[in-house]
Amino acid sequence: MDKIEKKMKKYSYWLDTVDQDFLKDANLPEKSDALVVGFGYTGLHAAFEMAKNGMKVCVIDKCNFGDGCSSKNGGQISNLLKPSIEKLTKKYGFEKAKSIRAEGVNALNWIIEFINKENINCDFIRDGLFHGAHTPTEFNKFVEESKKLKDIEGIETYIVPKSEQKNEINSNLYHGGIVFPDHSSLNPAKYHKSLIQKAKSLGIVIIQNCELLSYKKNSDIFNVETNKGVTNTENLIIATNGYTSKVTPWLNRRSIPIGSYVIASQELPKSFISQLFPSNRHITDSCRVVYYFRASPDKKRIIFGGRVSSREIDLHDSAPLLLKDLKRVFPDLPEINVSHSWMGYVSYTFDHLPHTGQIDGVFYSMGYCGSGIALSSYLGMKLGKKVIKDKEGHTAFDSLKFPTRPLYYGRPWFLPAVVELYKFRDSREINKYIN
Ligand SMILES: Cc1cc2nc3c(=O)[nH]c(=O)nc-3n(C[C@H](O)[C@H](O)[C@H](O)COP(=O)(O)OP(=O)(O)OC[C@H]3O[C@@H](n4cnc5c(N)ncnc54)[C@H](O)[C@@H]3O)c2cc1C
Repeated sequence: MDKIEKKMKKYSYWLDTVDQDFLKDANLPEKSDALVVGFGYTGLHAAFEMAKNGMKVCVIDKCNFGDGCSSKNGGQISNLLKPSIEKLTKKYGFEKAKSIRAEGVNALNWIIEFINKENINCDFIRDGLFHGAHTPTEFNKFVEESKKLKDIEGIETYIVPKSEQKNEINSNLYHGGIVFPDHSSLNPAKYHKSLIQKAKSLGIVIIQNCELLSYKKNSDIFNVETNKGVTNTENLIIATNGYTSKVTPWLNRRSIPIGSYVIASQELPKSFISQLFPSNRHITDSCRVVYYFRASPDKKRIIFGGRVSSREIDLHDSAPLLLKDLKRVFPDLPEINVSHSWMGYVSYTFDHLPHTGQIDGVFYSMGYCGSGIALSSYLGMKLGKKVIKDKEGHTAFDSLKFPTRPLYYGRPWFLPAVVELYKFRDSREINKYIN
């Protein structure tokens, strides 16, 4: 019997790979040139640009290191945006669609350059993604897509037929797949910690457990209230992504928070992990409710994530559900224990695109739709450049309308029904091909 360890840690495995005692308490300054709310990848990259331009920057976060998405994600870095070029072309025309899609590629290229240039120690590796087809129909779509990606967008991929799938993943579940060799991976907590250390070296003030409670614009200054006191700032930057709340009501009506759940297995022999992931790539699949998984960078654990239930649930309940789904991928997996179980909120949007810009003088960037390591870093950097009025801050997303829906006020009441339906359809399609 698989066991959910009694001592299972209800926090991210990645946190055990870094020393967390590195952020000392700082005082909220009376005033700053820029106040960034949220110290994830978006907020920190925005802060770098402003600090490099000589601004006095303060970054606050209502949580501690390790609580936001930026230190506990799956560590898989993509160059794709969710909507296809066809969908975007219908809405915006071909040229605009191409420029929007190109931002995904720009984001991946930019983060790789940043990590290399800044010597960021985060177990970065260009390991490539194997994206498995959960039905033969999906596989046929991959074959078409692969050609279009190369011809129209210059994105390299190659097709892996089912007969060769064992070279990529030791599972029979998929009907072949598509490999994106440029996709990469990292240890999110190490990346996040390095960014915070870089921020401190640039003189940026970082304050944990400091929540934005309200703000008011008075001529050119924002009067800001937090649980740690009041402060004034010339520029207010909101980088709260899946944790956006009513304190910014316009953004709250446009960001859909969705919980994503992850487990880490106990340590396993490296030789065994290599059998499961023979090409050492990270994996996702074509299910509507996607699974994402990989070996840990030290090749001792399986990290397996996805949306396990229609509603948000306790980490003790999500762990066995994820373990069951992991066993569907690797049915021959022996009895294993789960050592860590965690979750975090990603921000989806109604058009499945990230959005960045300014509303009532407040700068924002969010809505990475679960694929935000590269995008939030890149768009955070662009946002910082926007604040300093650098032309390089322009992005293809700037002119897009940030949509909401009637009766949506930040609580996704429709989500359980949608997830339930999607999971039902995925399971029905998968089970059709299992004996
Ligand atoms: C389980 C999981 C797995 C994921 N896997 C991947 C993956 O494999 N690949 C990928 O590309 N992306 C992945 N993502 C998404 C990715 O982690 C995010 O897109 C990215 O980290 C977003 O960064 P951010 O800085 O915008 O937001 P966050 O890192 O979430 O930071 C937002 C911060 O805002 C703070 N905040 C909110 N409100 C306030 C307030 N009022 N006052 C002060 N602070 C506030 C929050 O405390 C939080 O720390 C995953 C996410 C999760 C949760």
